[in-house]
Amino acid sequence: MSKRQDHEPGKENLRKQLAKPAKRRGEVGKRLPMDYQPDKKGPIGELLAPVAGFGVTFSSMFRPTVTEQYPFEKVPTQPRYHGRHQLNRYADGLEKCIGCELCAWACPADAILVEGANNSPDAQYSPGERYGRVYQINYLRCIFCGYCIEACPTRALTMGNDYELTGPTREGMIYEKQDLLAPLMPGMLAPPHPMVEGADDDTYYRGEVTGPTEGQVEWVRKNRPEDESLQTARPVEGASA
Ligand code: SF4
Ligand code: SF4
Repeated sequence: MSKRQDHEPGKENLRKQLAKPAKRRGEVGKRLPMDYQPDKKGPIGELLAPVAGFGVTFSSMFRPTVTEQYPFEKVPTQPRYHGRHQLNRYADGLEKCIGCELCAWACPADAILVEGANNSPDAQYSPGERYGRVYQINYLRCIFCGYCIEACPTRALTMGNDYELTGPTREGMIYEKQDLLAPLMPGMLAPPHPMVEGADDDTYYRGEVTGPTEGQVEWVRKNRPEDESLQTARPVEGASA
């Protein structure tokens, strides 16, 4: 340290101040900000202090109960709740999924596995060239963000309101295509079967197919006479655009 620095008046004063006892610095009895000093109570406050903690309990006793009796009573979710996924169908029973894998690419949790395959005249599962041969969602990974349904170009994938997703094993929480596929509605015809005569995938996408045609029903009757959906299929007039 240089001679000039040693004799700086500011530093010298600070050193002297710190060397003084606290009493002489005038700090004895001062309330420091970090000290906890609860406000002093009056006699009634002192008397009620032991039961003051029950104030919230007593004030809540006469309010209406908000406890939900789940699972005995289910409370409806909000309409746009993100629950279990569903793979949808067109009105004639063909699957909307075209196996494009966009949902799997959009998923931030890597919860979806899709393997697409080509449709053929003997095995047409969806309108157009491709369908989803393998479709899995791993519900141990899914965070129900909904990015997958936003990415789907055909609205094949949507999310319902079902939140009761449990399973006894880890494998049981991986839902396969048959678990996710929407059930056949009355009047639909189980795929595979040809597309509606004269329709293309745009016709389907625009919602102009309103049910199976007589030609589709005939095709299934000829190729799968034992198919149960033949009993309930309701051919529609003018289903093609
Ligand atoms: S909801 Fe989100 S996390 Fe779940 S499968 Fe879809 S994109 Fe993945
Ligand atoms: S669900 Fe939609 S995004 Fe996913 S593979 Fe099928 S068509 Fe593509």
